[in-house]
Amino acid sequence: MTSYNAPLRDMQFILKEMLEIQTYQDLPGFEEVTEDLIDAILEEGGKYARDVLHPLNKVGDAHGCVRNDDGSVTTPPGFKDAYDAMVESGFTAMAAKTEYGGQGLPHVLNVAYSEMSSAANMAFSMYPGLTHGAYSAIEAGGSDAQKNTYLPNLATGKWGGTMNLTEPQCGTDLGLIRTKAVPQADGTYKITGQKIWISAGEHDMADNIIHLVLARIEGAPEGIKGISLFIVPKYILDENGEPGARNSLECGGLEEKMGIHGNATCVMNYEDATGWLIGDENKGMRVMFVMMNAARLAVGVQGLAQAELAYQNAAEFARERLQSRSLTGPKAPDKPADPIIVHPDVRRMLMDSKAFIEGGRAFAYWTMLFNDLEHLSPDEKVREKASDYMGLMTPVVKSFLTDKGFKACSDCLQVHGGTGFTKDQGVEQFLRDAKIAMIYEGTNGIQALDLVGRKLSANAGRSIFGFFKEIDEWCEANSGDEELKPFVDALGGSKAKLQEGTTWLMQNGMSDFNNAGAASHDYLNVFGYTALTYMWAKMAKIALAKKGSDPFYDQKLVTGRYFIERLLPEAGSHLEKLKTGAKTMMSLDAEMF
Ligand SMILES: Cc1cc2nc3c(=O)[nH]c(=O)nc-3n(C[C@H](O)[C@H](O)[C@H](O)COP(=O)(O)OP(=O)(O)OC[C@H]3O[C@@H](n4cnc5c(N)ncnc54)[C@H](O)[C@@H]3O)c2cc1C
Repeated sequence: MTSYNAPLRDMQFILKEMLEIQTYQDLPGFEEVTEDLIDAILEEGGKYARDVLHPLNKVGDAHGCVRNDDGSVTTPPGFKDAYDAMVESGFTAMAAKTEYGGQGLPHVLNVAYSEMSSAANMAFSMYPGLTHGAYSAIEAGGSDAQKNTYLPNLATGKWGGTMNLTEPQCGTDLGLIRTKAVPQADGTYKITGQKIWISAGEHDMADNIIHLVLARIEGAPEGIKGISLFIVPKYILDENGEPGARNSLECGGLEEKMGIHGNATCVMNYEDATGWLIGDENKGMRVMFVMMNAARLAVGVQGLAQAELAYQNAAEFARERLQSRSLTGPKAPDKPADPIIVHPDVRRMLMDSKAFIEGGRAFAYWTMLFNDLEHLSPDEKVREKASDYMGLMTPVVKSFLTDKGFKACSDCLQVHGGTGFTKDQGVEQFLRDAKIAMIYEGTNGIQALDLVGRKLSANAGRSIFGFFKEIDEWCEANSGDEELKPFVDALGGSKAKLQEGTTWLMQNGMSDFNNAGAASHDYLNVFGYTALTYMWAKMAKIALAKKGSDPFYDQKLVTGRYFIERLLPEAGSHLEKLKTGAKTMMSLDAEMF
């Protein structure tokens, strides 16, 4: 049996002590964010995740979803009740705007709840996750009428939402989309085509499902410039705005998958289905991009969340499993052997995971605060920086946290030995579930290309140079602190590596684009390690000021030191690799593989 307890203390530390989100009360949505409210939300969310969602994690994995003969889909036992409880609690509406029936609370608070629900039951949490994606897209690009019609029920979770991008011939390259949209005299469109791998495409938990579908209007330009976005509801709304006639679409099949069995991954067939255009014709990708940053951050958090779940269970196991004696003599002489947590190699796997998770959590929440500031700050300079950082950090959060999250799941399975590989204990599910986060919402390879190809050069490099400057200033301001010195030095060194990698890309990536492509994964990793070092330096500063008052701060410092000693050196190896460029990588003919 696995268990999950939300890491409330660490979440409180980041939200209240590091980001101090209770100090932003002059911003809309933050007015009510007091330390008490933060605690109350975390505690309630934690209880729901522990008591309701996590017990259904294995149930969902074992049962999966079932497609019935009429095309309807039944979710695993218990999912519908858990969904109703979630709608009742208002968790889904936390970050939705008050004018649409949401609670209007900041995204940075919502991200902690998302982490908990993703950790407790990733497959389940994707249903409200996709709904939130559809909500964001309509909010970003819809007309006032569309917003008023669809957002209130999406905000509460009464209706579900989906994102329909992928088709059999295209996942990454959406310019190849074939689904067609034919304009009708009444201003609607008839949508025809097949979408595949649509998460939450059909299920039994919501009264209606609002599909957002990318399609090509007849006569539209070829490629990505000819793609439009449509609202295609499962049930067309009647004159009262309630679900009425069934639209001409159905789930044609469910995908058998490696993980997230509790989430219905659907083939969706549209046959002259009625759709409504969002925004302008041929500008669908623009709307998608607006909501993509937040969706990608959410996927990064999924990687982190699965790592946390795996880590908690591995730590528990390592304290209990008795094997061999400690290298330095028995630690539990009254028992037949010592618990495996005494062994350095087991420690290595646990500490690697813990140091990544805590740094990664700080990085994800810190970035999410910019998502709020980008929209809410009255200060134009703050909004500009927040927008720059959201663009720059998002591919790193998505890719670094899911890559390293998957590795943490693997290490934590390894801590269990053979028990980890068997189904009974249940931790192998975490590894299977975590894998998809590296693939969907833009594969991690595509995130790295986005970082080096678009984000670095945006606004003549304003974002990356702004980040360098911020780190320099932080190091300068803290240079006199002897106790903090290891963190300041590590941060300065890592930033220098990132700067060297950036310069190399500027000098070699433009003359040969394959150099940029070949370096992108390693560059993103240097970036990820630097960002986490910055987070660890900030956390260490707080912990140093409070050490001795609470063991929490002392263990924080140890974990931070471990990050610097044992994880950060990887940045150097990534820098060396990225500087080798594309020549050798690209020299074999395709037939030689
Ligand atoms: C369980 C599951 C749920 C999903 N949910 C949804 C959903 O709700 N809605 C939706 O629309 N889609 C969904 N998807 C689809 C998902 O977003 C795509 O699988 C993903 O974008 C990758 O596309 P692809 O599988 O076609 O891979 P491909 O695009 O064929 O890529 C294959 C490999 O080539 C690499 N590659 C491709 N192009 C390049 C390039 N230019 N440079 C470098 N490398 C490249 C990729 O990184 C990848 O490693 C889901 C998929 C799965 C498996």
